[in-house]
Amino acid sequence: MLCDDEDEEKSVGALPKKRQTNSRQGFRRQHHKIKIPQLKICPQCKQARLSHHACPNCGTYRGRQVIPVRERRAATE
Ligand SMILES: [Zn+2]
Repeated sequence: MLCDDEDEEKSVGALPKKRQTNSRQGFRRQHHKIKIPQLKICPQCKQARLSHHACPNCGTYRGRQVIPVRERRAATE
């Protein structure tokens, strides 16, 4: 019987000894907030783009064409 009890204790695993307060919960979650994306102006087309990313409008990165530009269907039609 003793052996059975030990097995049960092992199967439970680690459990917190005390409940965390609402304040501590808030401290942990203080980094969960959303950040505003760091937008930079594209030197080619002067539109907003994410820094360290290729421009979604003209497809260039550091003055080099990295994504082939496709024509906008909405503009042509
Ligand atoms: Zn651009």
